[in-house]
Parts: sequence; structure tokens; C-alpha cells
Amino acid sequence: MQILIVEDEVRLAKALKQILEEKNYMVEMVHNGEDGVDYGMSGIYDVIILDLMLPKLNGIEVAKRLRTGGVETPIIMLTARDTIRDKIAGLDSGADDYMTKPFSPNELLARIRAVTRRHAEVLADVISYGDITFNISTNEVSCGDKSIRLNFKEAEILKLLFLRKNVPVSKEDLLTKVWGYDSEAGDSNVEAYISFIRKKLSFINSNVTVVSLKKVGYKLEEKKC
Ligand code: CA
Repeated sequence: MQILIVEDEVRLAKALKQILEEKNYMVEMVHNGEDGVDYGMSGIYDVIILDLMLPKLNGIEVAKRLRTGGVETPIIMLTARDTIRDKIAGLDSGADDYMTKPFSPNELLARIRAVTRRHAEVLADVISYGDITFNISTNEVSCGDKSIRLNFKEAEILKLLFLRKNVPVSKEDLLTKVWGYDSEAGDSNVEAYISFIRKKLSFINSNVTVVSLKKVGYKLEEKKC
């Protein structure tokens, strides 16, 4: 599980990173709101821990931009203040949970488990786009009465394309999320898998295909008839 910490108090950010790494989470940290948006938009994180008061862009603005950009990563907002108004503004902006500083590490760990569990429940077993339905527990895609099973990597790629909706997913994101940071896989691996997915979608006679946007990445699109 990968976590992004957006916190300008470097000592606190480092302490959180250490606590989370001890629990085997992979953690990256940035110290201002603009970097928070840039990193968060990659869509590769499972949870974002986002401070409210940040240089450049505050936490509420960061959460809003991520949600507007189609990123659905659960966000836990941190704040030194504890007024109802801040909480409402934070939750309205798209944060999933709220923690008031100071907090105990155990409380943070519990909140992380809770938001990721809720997020997984929200992701239904069967998701659809255009004329295809995708069962993410069996990895089967169907269109009308035709269906075909995807292999593990094809399914992981298609899940990311579904989750990001109309926001393109870059090759880099696919490599990190599907093959992992340490993998030696490269662009040609991604291209090969994208072409497998295209073939399978056309095999089931779907109007949906994966389009490549030069230098940006891939997204799902319905072919115009
Ligand atoms: Ca701060």
C-alpha cells in the first residue's frame, strides 16, 4: 500500500513516514500544496494524508483539485484547528476523514485502515463503461452476451483506466502501479498489454477501446458509430 504525506512541518512528516514504514506502508512525502496536487494526480497512492495549512495551496484547495481531476484516492486531512467550520470545509472539498493535531500514531493507523476499507467497499464488484461491464473479482469483461477473462496484469491496467475515467493514465503510472517500482519492465511491456486489452475488447464486439494520447497516456473511449 502506498501513502502520500503532504505536510509542511518536516519533522512531523518524517515522524509519520517512519511510523507508517514500520507498518510496511510505502511512503512518499512532499511539503507544499502544489507538490501535493502534482504527486496526488498520479493516482498511484492508496491514501493521501493532507495537512490543512500548507504553503502555496492549502489542503482544501489540494483536495478540490484532486477530486476535480478525477482522483478518488481516500484523503485524511490533518489540522491544528478544531472548529466545526474547518471540518465541514474539509469534508466538502472531498476529504474522507479528519484528524486534529496532536494525534496518536495508533489513531492515524486506525483511520488509514478505515478509509481504505470503506473505499474498497465503495468499489463495487462490477463496474461498467459504455457497453462493457467489468467484474473485478473474476476479471471478466462482457459486452452483450460475449465475455472474456483478462489475465492479472490486463485486469489491473483496465481497473486503473476505469478508476481514472476521463483522465489519461500515463505509461509511468501503469508501470509503477501494475509492475511496481523495482520492476525492469518498460514502455514496450505497457504497449504490449494495452494491445492485448484492445484485442479482447474487440473480440467481445465492444464499442469501447483504449486510446493512446501522444506523450500523455491512455484512456478509455467509446468509438463513435
Ligand atoms: Ca501545516
